[in-house]
Amino acid sequence: MSDLGDLYQSLIMDHNRKPRNYGVLAESTHVGHGHNPLCGDKFTVFVKLDAQNIIESVFFNGEGCAISKASASLMTTQLKGKTLDEAQALFARFHAMVTDAEGADHAKSMGKLGVFVGVREYPARVKCATLAWHTFHNALAQTDEVVATEV
Ligand code: ZN
Repeated sequence: MSDLGDLYQSLIMDHNRKPRNYGVLAESTHVGHGHNPLCGDKFTVFVKLDAQNIIESVFFNGEGCAISKASASLMTTQLKGKTLDEAQALFARFHAMVTDAEGADHAKSMGKLGVFVGVREYPARVKCATLAWHTFHNALAQTDEVVATEV
């Protein structure tokens, strides 16, 4: 468990310091806004789908705590090249990993995303870790509402 703890620490610190795919994606096809009022995390997620509905790129912009920012950064690296079905399935597994009783089992098959299994012990942090995913989902739903983690 301490190995997982170290990996968790270094991955989160790295992605918080140097977030991947951070900025505005001008040629995006979908945009979503997300806000976690409990912590103050606020992100915009930009998605670009190609003609076959494959995710060509995902960018995010905004400010948040280390966990929310690292989770958003890692999410953008994992979604590239996926179909919408694959992306939704990954979101469902990620969500289950941080909220379900059997979450730890999911973590083993999640690759780098598995480092977030630790947040399940801290309900307030679950909202930080899932905000970018909810915002991504919201972007694809094409609603103008700001998705809040409280609903
Ligand atoms: Zn947060």
